[in-house]
Amino acid sequence: MKKLTPLISFLLLSLSLWANTANSTQRPRIVILATGGTIAGSASSSTQASYKPGVISVEQIIATVPDIEKIAILKSIQVCNISSQNMELSIWFKLYNTIDSLFSNDLCDGVVITHGTDTMEETAYFLNLTIKHSRPVVLTGAMRPSTSLSADGPFNLFNAVSVAASQKTINRGVMVVMNDFILSADDVTKTNTVNTAAFSCPNYGPLGYIRDGEPRFFRESVAKHTVNSEFDIKGMNTLPPVEIIYSYTFSSIIPVRALIEANVKGIVVAGVGHGNYSAAVKNELEKGSRKGVAIIRSTRIASGGVDCAAEDYDPSWPVAYLKNPQKARILLMLALIKSSKSSESLNPKEIQRIFTEY
Ligand code: GLU
Repeated sequence: MKKLTPLISFLLLSLSLWANTANSTQRPRIVILATGGTIAGSASSSTQASYKPGVISVEQIIATVPDIEKIAILKSIQVCNISSQNMELSIWFKLYNTIDSLFSNDLCDGVVITHGTDTMEETAYFLNLTIKHSRPVVLTGAMRPSTSLSADGPFNLFNAVSVAASQKTINRGVMVVMNDFILSADDVTKTNTVNTAAFSCPNYGPLGYIRDGEPRFFRESVAKHTVNSEFDIKGMNTLPPVEIIYSYTFSSIIPVRALIEANVKGIVVAGVGHGNYSAAVKNELEKGSRKGVAIIRSTRIASGGVDCAAEDYDPSWPVAYLKNPQKARILLMLALIKSSKSSESLNPKEIQRIFTEY
């Protein structure tokens, strides 16, 4: 086994016995990494809309899906039990290191992550760009808490394990499974705050769907991911700071100024329409750009993205294409690792190349 942190070494040691025994059962070995969210949520009545996320354990969630053990042999790890608005960089690194070690040491065939739905797309995209393995990683969650009448979590978990256990899902990048659909990490986003049909891929549509525990695909992700990704975060525990500003009618320049003063390395603009913002905001961003802050033009609009053919903007400022602002931020943080290692600003042309390929 490679050199690892003590916590991960301990985890892997306890998993290696399981992995060897599991091998003899002929079923795929799936590890469930639980992080919390509504799938682990609980309410005081089965019809109540308000509830507390991240309450029940991963073992309790699995116990609500009895047929799951027929499709895979399972091992679960409670990574944390939080609402995903409280997701932290340290937990992203923990997920990355655990998954990398599991696959590098052949301890499982696929990974399922249970996650709060609010930021699930961001964790999925981060892992899509950093995990250097072709084995499936699937995120799932729920819109209704575990105590709900018609809770959606158990079926979502069954479907997610089915996808992670299938040979058809090798080398498809990190996926999100919700409401019977398989969605690609690069395009998936949350488009409804309450409904069980809360997720969609607004630009490309879903990768496929699941019926009777069988994934059926009708497209592939065209963006670079996992084994083809150039981003190497091994041994790291932080990323360059990149923030987002939101554009709207007569928006203030205060947030842009504050971010530049705080020495952020990058700013993603969630522009209006085709990545537009006011002349006043543009002026502030130009000051940042002169100081070496990387600026990316993205949009607050759900689909269509931003390409280079824009209004009177500096053509050297890269655009996010179809990445939404929260994903453009993750891609820029990873792109900027290169400049943080060399202490030189990353050439905007190089940033644009990255946004074209991922
Ligand atoms: N806000 C909570 C979270 O993202 C609950 C939402 C959910 O999981 O659906 O964890």
